[in-house]
Formats: sequence, structure tokens, C-alpha cells
Amino acid sequence: MNKMHIKKGDTVVVLSGKDKGKKGKVLTVLPKQNKAIVEGVALATKHTKPRKQGETGGIVNQEIAIHACKLMHVCTKCNKPTRIGRKVLDDGSIVRYCKKCNETFAD
Ligand SMILES: [Zn+2]
Repeated sequence: MNKMHIKKGDTVVVLSGKDKGKKGKVLTVLPKQNKAIVEGVALATKHTKPRKQGETGGIVNQEIAIHACKLMHVCTKCNKPTRIGRKVLDDGSIVRYCKKCNETFAD
């Protein structure tokens, strides 16, 4: 099983592609595809058609999934793109931590 390095609720930055440099919050992770949907990033425009009489069609922006390898975690403490490490605390619980500022996050 593929362990994703990002989780729902994480803030990430896009490393490559047309959305390079954009930051956003992870809305959904798709571990099977190793992809994530990031708020406000990789927006695809969808045209919706009215399905019922009286409904208006329109354009909606919807995020498309981005490959996880193009995303890097942004530390909420030091606000830098960073690698996240894992460590075991004295009580046996595992936490993730920022390799830049050492801030720990719940796993
Ligand atoms: Zn940090």
C-alpha cells in the first residue's frame, strides 16, 4: 500500500506544471492514484447544462486531482515548503514533523 506523504487538510505547494508555485489546502487524497485535490489549484472549467426546465446552465470551476509527486508540504509554522519527517515519541505515538523548524504535527 502506497503511503501518501500528504494528508487531507495539509497545506501544499505545487512544484511543477502550469500551477507551479500555487499553494492550497488538500481537500481530498486519492491514495490509489497517488493524487490529491488541492483547493483552488488545477481548476478545470466545466460547463453545466440545465437539466430541468427553468434551470440555468453555467460555468463552474472544479479542481482536478494532481499527482502527489508534484506537491510539497508547506509547514504551517515556518510557512516554508518542507520535507516532513516521522518520529516516534517517548509514549510510542508517531508524529510528523517539519525538517526545517522541527514543529510537530499529529499524524
Ligand atoms: Zn516548519
